[in-house]
Amino acid sequence: MYGKIKNHLQQELKAIEEAGLYKRERTIVSPQDALIRLADGKEVLNFCANNYLGLSSHPVLMKAAREALDTHGYGMSSVRFICGTTDLHKVLEEKIADFFGTEDTILYAACFDANGGVFEPLLGEEDAIISDSLNHASIIDGVRLSKAQRYRYANADMADLEEQLKKASTNRFRIIVTDGVFSMDGNVAPVDKICELARKYDALVMVDECHSAGVVGNTGRGVTELYNIRGEVDIITGTLGKAFGGAIGGFTTGRKEIIEMLRQRSRPYLFSNSLPPMITKAGIAMFDMMRETTELQDKLHQNTDFFRNEIIRAGFTIKPSRSAIVAIMLFDARLSQDFAARLLNEGIYVIGFYYPVVPKGEARIRVQLSAAHTRENLDKAIASFIKVGKELKVI
Ligand SMILES: *Cc1c(COP(=O)(O)O)cnc(C)c1O
Repeated sequence: MYGKIKNHLQQELKAIEEAGLYKRERTIVSPQDALIRLADGKEVLNFCANNYLGLSSHPVLMKAAREALDTHGYGMSSVRFICGTTDLHKVLEEKIADFFGTEDTILYAACFDANGGVFEPLLGEEDAIISDSLNHASIIDGVRLSKAQRYRYANADMADLEEQLKKASTNRFRIIVTDGVFSMDGNVAPVDKICELARKYDALVMVDECHSAGVVGNTGRGVTELYNIRGEVDIITGTLGKAFGGAIGGFTTGRKEIIEMLRQRSRPYLFSNSLPPMITKAGIAMFDMMRETTELQDKLHQNTDFFRNEIIRAGFTIKPSRSAIVAIMLFDARLSQDFAARLLNEGIYVIGFYYPVVPKGEARIRVQLSAAHTRENLDKAIASFIKVGKELKVI
């Protein structure tokens, strides 16, 4: 029976490979950190992880995770509403709400699930979702799973958003949805302006803070801190899989009734397993640490400013951004791949992105800074960029 689809899949896979789009995975044999060891023994500086605060292998989080193994065991073997809720889950939910200045929080196995399960319980076919064209795949899937009418506006384009809000004016409820930071350019969504339009056109606002939480804003409280609009965004989704430790886990935090309804009706919450205690305890330790000190956020901001300034000074073109993502523009797809390969030889691990991941003619290398990077790490990366940039006549 398998023969026909097997042939078909083989052909499709070959087509993906011939188009140069086949994704290959590089195996790491050390913990995730600024310096990682690859399976071939090579040690490289990592500039392509979402390890913004350097917490992926942080001793405070690892100690908390170990403690939870002893006090609460390994797995929950249940969903939250049957017997999958521990004291740790409740505490972590409170800590997240406290961090973002919101009313309540609901945990998920991942932010992919948080986004997948947020629209369908809240909105029906008489309602409208107005979504940024560059929103994350999980938001797009979440929108698809709901019966609400769909409107799309060009990335961060407030004139277009206003157009769409006018079109949606006859719907019962409207919600504007945006990533806080868009992962390919690193640009921060203009959430202050989005909130103004939301007030004018009576809409809710949802922000996905996956790349902005822990990163953006003076103390890393995300876009609502950056724009001084804490408490104004109705729904925030986020991940524990990036700045916040990098293991796994997602959440939705915001208005009390919204979170309560998600607990009753959100399918990825109701029908998928509860987060393991070690993840929740490490999360608690992490948010406690962030209450005490902004050392890591400060370091990340210093590192990002330093790297960005030096790269500009060296003559590279970058996308303007206020996040920890620096998109170094090379424009040409092949050049982006050559550049990344040569950097790897220099001991710098970055990824070159090109169409269709980014628009045609906008190939680039995306650099992600971390609080774990030392000044020596940054100096080495900058020197390598300059060396390869000269070799390939980019600068
Ligand atoms: C990474 C990411 C997600 C998915 O988060 P997970 O917790 O890894 O599922 C969702 N939205 C955005 C914007 C992201 O960058």
